[in-house]
This record gives sequence, C-alpha cells and structure tokens, in this order.
Amino acid sequence: MKSIDKGYINGEFVTLHGTQVFDLISPTDHQLIGQVTLGDETDVERAVTAAKAAFKSFRKSTIAERIQLLQQLKEAVSKNTTELTEVMIQEYGGTRQFCTMSTMMSLSNFDSLIETLQHFEFERKAGNTLVQMTPVGVVGIITPWNASNGFICSKLATAIAAGCTVVVKPSEMSALQTQVLTAIIHEAGLPKGLFNVVNGLGNVVGTAITTHPDIAKISFTGSTITGKQIAKTAVDTIKRVTLELGGKSPNIILEDADFEKAIPQAVFGAYMNSGQACVAPTRLLVPKAKLDIVNQLAKAAAENVVVGNPTNDATNVGPMVSEKQYERVQNYIKIGMEEGATLLTGGPGKPAGLENGNFVKATIFTNVSNDMRIAREEIFGPVLSIIPYENEDDAIAIANNTTYGLAAYVTSADESRAVKVAAQIEAGRVCVNGFKHDPQAPFGGFKQSGLGREFGAFGLEEYLEPKSILV
Ligand code: NDP
Repeated sequence: MKSIDKGYINGEFVTLHGTQVFDLISPTDHQLIGQVTLGDETDVERAVTAAKAAFKSFRKSTIAERIQLLQQLKEAVSKNTTELTEVMIQEYGGTRQFCTMSTMMSLSNFDSLIETLQHFEFERKAGNTLVQMTPVGVVGIITPWNASNGFICSKLATAIAAGCTVVVKPSEMSALQTQVLTAIIHEAGLPKGLFNVVNGLGNVVGTAITTHPDIAKISFTGSTITGKQIAKTAVDTIKRVTLELGGKSPNIILEDADFEKAIPQAVFGAYMNSGQACVAPTRLLVPKAKLDIVNQLAKAAAENVVVGNPTNDATNVGPMVSEKQYERVQNYIKIGMEEGATLLTGGPGKPAGLENGNFVKATIFTNVSNDMRIAREEIFGPVLSIIPYENEDDAIAIANNTTYGLAAYVTSADESRAVKVAAQIEAGRVCVNGFKHDPQAPFGGFKQSGLGREFGAFGLEEYLEPKSILV
C-alpha cells in the first residue's frame, strides 16, 4: 500500500498542513491500495505564494527557454510511460488499451506546444498599435479523475508556453497517478515554484484556489455542475476561466453509410474509456427505417465487448472509478427502463464473475426518445442510447436538442455531405467518418459543455492578456 503524505510546493515535496487522510480503493477488486493526505487552505496559500514568486521571473522567460523546458518535460515523461500507464490502470481502472493511448496523448501535448510556440506571434499590430500578448499570471488547474495526468500535462504545457506558473488540484482519487507524474516533473528540473501540487477536496483546496486573489485564471476540467460553481466563485476576483465540461455527444449515421462498419464502431466508441469520457458518442442517431438492422448489429457488437480486468490486453471496458460512480450508472440504467426505453443488451447489476469490482454490463437502450433523461443527462458509464430519426433535418434537430455541445460525430458514404451536416451541429468538435484527434485544433464546448478553448494557438491565447501599447 502506498502513502502519499506530501504536497509539491516550490520545487520540493513538503509535509502538508492538512491532516485528513483519504483511502484509495482499487476499482477492480476493492482492495485498499493507498492513502493520500489532503491539503487545506494553508497549503494552498503556500503554493500560491511560491507560484506568485516564480511568476515574477518566469513571465520574462524567452520563447527559447520555454521550448527548452517543454523539451525537458517531454523527455522526462517519455522515459516513464510504462510507469504512468501502469499506475493509471491500477488506481483508476482504465483499460490497458485506453491508458496506453492516454499516456501517449499526455506526451503529445509537449510537442504540440513546442510547435505552437515556433509560430505564435506574441507581438502584433492592431491599427497603429503594438499589441503584446502577456502571460495572465498564476493559473489554478483543477482536474477530474478520468484522464488526470493527461489534463495536467496539457494545462501545464500551455501555461509554460504562455509564461505562467501553476497550482494544481487534481482529483484526490488520482493521487497515485499525480504522485508518479509529479516525481517525473521534479526530475525534469523546472524553475522552483513554476509547478505546485496540492491534493485535497474540491470544497476545501478547490475553493481556496478559486477564491484566491493572487490566482489570475482557473483552468478547469470536470462536470458542468462544478464548472458553474467555479465560475460563480471566480467572478468575485474577476478571474479568467476556462471550463471543459460534460457532454452528451450525438453520433449521426446517415442512411448511405456502411452500417456493418459504422454501428460496431459507434458501440465501441460509446464505451471509450469505459464510458467515462466527456467526448463519448452516447447518443446514436440512426434512420428509423434502418432501426431493426441497427439493433441487430449493435447488440452483436456489444456482446463482443470485453468487460473485465483492466490489466488484460483484450479488455475494452474496465470498472467504474468508484462505487459512487457505479451506483450513478446503475441508477441511470434503472431510469432508462422506467422511462420505457427498450433494453437491447446489458442492464442492471454486475457481469458474472466480476462482483468484486465496480463493473457495469455493456448496456444499450434502443427506441430512445431524445426527451428521456438517459438521452439528456451525462451518465459517464458504458450506456448507449439509440435514437431513431425521420430524415437528415430531423437528425440535425435531435443532435442539437441538448444543453451540451462538446463533440459530435457524422458518418456517411459521401464525405462532403457529412461535412455539410457537421457544419450545422452545435458542438466544439465534429468528427467526420470516425474518431479523430488533432492536438493543434481548438478543443472545448458550445453551450453548457464549456467556456473557452484548449490546445494549440487557441488554447495558448486563453493564458494570455492582450496589452495595447499606444505611442
Ligand atoms: P467533478 O466536477 O466532480 O470534479 C472535478 C474536479 O473539481 C475535482 O478535482 C473536484 O474535486 C473539483 N471540485 C469539486 N467541487 C469543487 C469546487 N466547489 N471548487 C473547486 N473545485 C471543485 O468531476 P469528476 O471528477 O466527477 O469528473 C467527471 C466529469 O468531468 C464529467 O462530467 C465529465 O464530462 C467531465 N470531463 C470533461 C472533459 C472535457 O474536456 N470537457 C474531459 C473529462 C471529463 P473533488 O474530487 O474533491 O470533488
């Protein structure tokens, strides 16, 4: 059993003022795998003081110096990908397939920001005026448990590119993963105080960060409900806020698509990261006339999904991160049945032989109406809703009839037709014919899926204040 009893402040692992201890329970077999000491307001104060002091000099760093630090981080992370992947599987229960990819994506953030810095204009002209893009200040980074180190790496890389310093509050359920990453970052040799970590609860450490007058910006990834709370709290000190929130992403399969290929892909996509993915395509929109064949193909695909121990190479869906998350998903399965959706496969309870962990059956509801709660609310588990549509316009209307707008997917034999449909979808990212990722493309949500953008030049701008110098 591992014990994480220190924070990382001013370039050192330090004993925390907070004393509360949180148990880390394996989602796979409910064994106690570690304990983390939770920080408090005093620890945040120390971390912000260190970050503020470091900002004084780091804000003046050159682009070459920032690129050098990003290189150092990239090298340090790339030497330790196995350890990062293994601890993610152990603590979070992410599948080996997902965690391996997630670690590689964490790494790609450093390259992406290096590339961005090579072209980014920190000084521009507007009219006759010189506009300088200046670092915003100390950034408070608050992350969820579902790809914790990936979020820390992308936000830290962007902060460094901008000349900002950071105080990170990860989910306490990610303490083992954060510890591994922090040790790697420590070895990379950043300037003291640039990167600080305080484990702790949202309503203690999180609130201390969002209310602190010396923090200029919050970069948050998590649920919409917490994002709203953070935005409200941050307004008192007029912090800049980037919010990456939840989703209920539509996946439109047009009637000319290759259904034999598209439907299995849609099912496996909905279960990405064991269904605990903000961009998961959890509403599958299909032509009403093809519903029978869709049901057959989807059921067969779900029966091929391997739910099980996340360490196994073949596992597609691992356990839910916590018992609370397991109960939440079970409750939505119950709601779907009570709402009158047709349970195509899966359903309540744990799969046979997996009673000791937070495992959920790969579940599909069909004949779902878009006004049902299972079609409107983020479940964050392996539960897919198949929603029939009448025609293309109806599909677009259903896709947009949601409070969310993070991601969407369109599949068609005719790519230009799919792009025309994509243009009408209210979402920050629309993937045509498959699941894609581009670390240079802006990422973020329309509507209640977020505020602001991450990644590449768009993400970098969010960490900068334009200053006009009129001579
Ligand atoms: P939460 O919103 O519950 O928590 C996210 C983080 O915020 C945690 O570190 C949490 O701490 C902290 N927090 C909670 N309350 C406060 C507060 N009042 N002030 C400051 N910080 C607070 O999300 P989950 O961890 O449950 O993650 C799942 C959610 O994240 C899903 O809704 C998902 O869609 C979203 N998400 C969005 C992504 C995107 O890019 N758009 C990507 C991945 C996930 P604590 O752990 O102590 O509660």
